[in-house]
Amino acid sequence: MSHPAPGGIDWAAVRAEFPILGREVHGKPLVYLDSANTSQKPRAVIEAVDTFLTRHNANVSRAVHALGSEATEAYENARRRLATFLGVRAEELVLCSGTTFALNLVAFSWALPRLKPGEAIVLTRMEHHANIVPWQLVAERTGARIKVAELTPEGELDLEGLWRLLTPEVKLLAFAHVSNVLGTVNPVREICREAARRGITTVVDGSQAVPHRPVDISALGCDFYAFTGHKLCGPTGTGGLWGRRELLAGMPPFLGGGEMIREVRFEGSTFNDPPYRFEAGTPNIAGHVGLGVAADWLQNLGMANVEAREQALLAQATAALSAIPGLRIFGTAREKAAVISFAIEGTHAHDLATLLDLEGIAVRSGQHCAHPLLQWFGVSATCRASLAFYNTEAEIEAFAAALHKVRGLLL
Ligand code: PMP
Repeated sequence: MSHPAPGGIDWAAVRAEFPILGREVHGKPLVYLDSANTSQKPRAVIEAVDTFLTRHNANVSRAVHALGSEATEAYENARRRLATFLGVRAEELVLCSGTTFALNLVAFSWALPRLKPGEAIVLTRMEHHANIVPWQLVAERTGARIKVAELTPEGELDLEGLWRLLTPEVKLLAFAHVSNVLGTVNPVREICREAARRGITTVVDGSQAVPHRPVDISALGCDFYAFTGHKLCGPTGTGGLWGRRELLAGMPPFLGGGEMIREVRFEGSTFNDPPYRFEAGTPNIAGHVGLGVAADWLQNLGMANVEAREQALLAQATAALSAIPGLRIFGTAREKAAVISFAIEGTHAHDLATLLDLEGIAVRSGQHCAHPLLQWFGVSATCRASLAFYNTEAEIEAFAAALHKVRGLLL
């Protein structure tokens, strides 16, 4: 099966930029279908981290010596590159270890001091645990309640139901841009507009969106947007939180330490401006340098090209998997990213994933950090194949053939 190359891009050459994709697993060529878990890294990112550590390594903003200023400049340059990639101002971009940190920062720094007993937070059924548990911790401490927006059987948000939940006691709505299990792409702009009309603050978990489609955060109308760098071709332990300047400015620090202060006295300290107020301690400098290069690299490739390529691969994979007897796909939203969660009647997800691994095929199995969603579907685990632009049509054919084979072994 072949597809026209979106944007006239030579995808084989793009793939060749990812050294790990050339390796073998259990004597078979690696077919990496776990990019929603973490993406692979192009040579440019690996080399940027290597060059930083080889030539420029020093701490940021603490040394006047040459390496100190080179490291600071490289780190701040990464912030600017990411801000350009995401359509925001660098001063509003807090760099941190990823979405989990970013969402906890909003929970503890924005929500904890504000929420009162009887007020409410709205989440959705499709959230990752990182967008559930921080709000539960805050709800416990404040006496606020959590309300849950439900889904249609296809795995789309029931928008009418969501609007009905947005009652006057709701102060915050936190939801995924794209579901990591279902691939559902939520209508962020419409949801944020409805929330804003009611004075509700919005927090968007963009972990699975920014790696797979063009995202201009400033056009979405949200108040906070979290993302993680390791799914975006960057190193682990990187990512960020964008927040509206006036909201960030009104938030107390989350963690205390070096870099986030203006002045420290034993009687009390004063704090730096955002984003530095939220970046206590030594950050992942080399990692963010790599992430800045990843953002540039993806921008050059063109996120619209990435999206078109992945949509073509998704269509091929969906058709191939649908032809497997007893295979059920979870999540069939009209607008869907390249994630396919599935189960095969009479088999266990972990057994499937283990046998696929022996064929060189890496898929994730389990609950995908989304217990409430899997409970709702009435299953204890699924397999998840998640695609990226560096996958190929031949890999999807190999995946489908392997699934036929392992199904035969298990039944
Ligand atoms: N939200 C979603 C939708 C995710 O897919 C993930 C990663 N699986 C996270 C949050 C957490 O990201 P991280 O572990 O990088 O903080």
